[in-house]
Amino acid sequence: MNIAVYPGSFDPVTNGHLDIIMRGAKVFDLLIVAVLNNSGKNPMFTVEERKQHLIEVTRNIGNVEVDSFNNLLVDYIQAKQARVIIRGLRAISDFEYELQMASINHKLSENIETFFMMTNPQYSYLSSSIVKEIAKYQAPVSDLVPKVIEDALRIKYAVK
Ligand code: ADP
Repeated sequence: MNIAVYPGSFDPVTNGHLDIIMRGAKVFDLLIVAVLNNSGKNPMFTVEERKQHLIEVTRNIGNVEVDSFNNLLVDYIQAKQARVIIRGLRAISDFEYELQMASINHKLSENIETFFMMTNPQYSYLSSSIVKEIAKYQAPVSDLVPKVIEDALRIKYAVK
């Protein structure tokens, strides 16, 4: 079975992430969307919340699983018996960091390959941070994120 892992913060998942998930799921037998449990990043949503969001928005895609990890990515990939890391590329600005990550992961484990998927041009400007920034000012984010995220952001900012 050809298993790929799509790791990220997904804080929160956007339509850009979802586009990569849907396209990736067409290419691999199983796509595991893995939320990075990184305490250093001061996220808006907890890992559990982010996983729940991802489960809801991928409910209709049969070969997608949602998980989280807090160990080294290559160790996680091997434990899942996967060989491929999927990452999305938006602008040149993504490239340098992604090249560094892909190179170090390949050095750590030669069996693991990183596959890059170009953003759908309609989402090339879209990031989780932009979405949070817009939502903070109660401006509409309905074109940028699934409905469940729009509601979750509204609740988060109402509580704050
Ligand atoms: P990370 O903190 O690991 O970068 P993100 O949740 O921001 O986590 O992103 C996860 C992956 O999704 C990264 O490869 C990122 O480049 C990609 N990505 C994020 N937004 C988009 C988008 N709008 N279009 C395509 N890929 C995207």
